[in-house]
Amino acid sequence: MQTRRIAIFGATGSIGINTLDVIAQLGGRDAFEITAVTGNSNVEALARLAIEHGAAMAVTADESRYDDLKQELSGTGIEAASGASGLDEAASCNNDIVMAAIVGTAGLAPTLKAAAAGADIALANKECLVSAGPLFMDAVKRGGGMLIPVDSEHSAIFQVFEENQRRALDRVIITASGGPFRQMSLDEMRHVDAATARAHPNWSMGLKISIDSASMFNKALEMIEAQHLFDLAPGQVEVVVHPQSIIHSMVGYADGSILAQLGAPDMRTAIGYALAYPERRPLSVERLDFAKLARLDFEAPDETRFPALKLARRAMERGGLQGAVLNGAKEVALEAFIEGRCGFLEMAEITEAVMAEMDNLPAATTIDDVYQADSEARRRAASLLRR
Ligand code: NAD
Ligand code: MG
Repeated sequence: MQTRRIAIFGATGSIGINTLDVIAQLGGRDAFEITAVTGNSNVEALARLAIEHGAAMAVTADESRYDDLKQELSGTGIEAASGASGLDEAASCNNDIVMAAIVGTAGLAPTLKAAAAGADIALANKECLVSAGPLFMDAVKRGGGMLIPVDSEHSAIFQVFEENQRRALDRVIITASGGPFRQMSLDEMRHVDAATARAHPNWSMGLKISIDSASMFNKALEMIEAQHLFDLAPGQVEVVVHPQSIIHSMVGYADGSILAQLGAPDMRTAIGYALAYPERRPLSVERLDFAKLARLDFEAPDETRFPALKLARRAMERGGLQGAVLNGAKEVALEAFIEGRCGFLEMAEITEAVMAEMDNLPAATTIDDVYQADSEARRRAASLLRR
């Protein structure tokens, strides 16, 4: 394999760390030249990763930590940078591929920049597609790179999606574990806190996505993500609860066939697939033992207890900036929940209220429209929280 230049956005996070592990498994410095690693305020961890993996540059998104990062890197020859301009630089250093694994809307600008520069994008940051779907898809197309999903469900769909059979495509079926509250009553859910909500039964992930999994907002984002990624009509996106998380998602065709991708719940499979695409390369991840698994279960999602799914459906049907509004309002409510200022079920109530208030926005024509809708949704969600 030829050495490929890679930048890792969000290197200090759960996906970022797994990406570095996969890079080591795929041949390390013989296979990948790391142009940049980025992180937020934890510059000690960022510097450690940059040194250990031989990155050329380290970028902290937090400008106030620039001096500390520079200090951590002194004498190593690794360039330090910070803020939006630093992320911009990381996006523009002639990358062959970029792992987009910043959490939240903060990932949008640098990922767009990298896409426009023509890098292949390994996309973990689903918020890019939720908030700016058509614009983001267009930026990738114009940049000329490939877009390879890293979200496990979308990686699964991508792996079994027969592009040459598009006319025979019936539907995609996204699987959901149901999260830690799958069997909890609405009344019990009203009183859960962030510490309980973050304990995912199958996947080990970052804090925000873990809580989004408990509320099924993660699945809501993934429905919208799939709509844009695979150019689907809202009615073609189904969700089924599958508590074991072994089937990572499926595609149904007109002849009644369903193709599925299965594996142990380990993000390194989807990351490895994206980094080695179009090849499949060996990875030391757990192999499935079907006799030991014995059974796979399925159930319909409950939209009364998990109203996020209903909100996603609404955003998909409405189109335009409703994805950006949903995500912006949700991020504010989620942060408030983490800080104990918002109830678990209130997250969907606030998001729904903001979506209703901002129901009449025209479709975005520029990325600024997305940022405006996002910040207006945040402002409204924050003001509802204060009431
Ligand atoms: P995480 O919280 O573990 O890591 C987030 C990364 O983003 C860190 O490197 C952090 O420093 C950086 N970051 C945080 N705020 C930032 C800001 N304002 N500006 C720039 N950088 C910032 O998150 P994660 O679980 O690794 O998830 C990353 C993305 O991948 C999310 O969009 C998530 O939805 C998606 N994703 C994650 C998983 C998973 O298994 N963790 C699976 C599918 C999709
Ligand atoms: Mg997922």
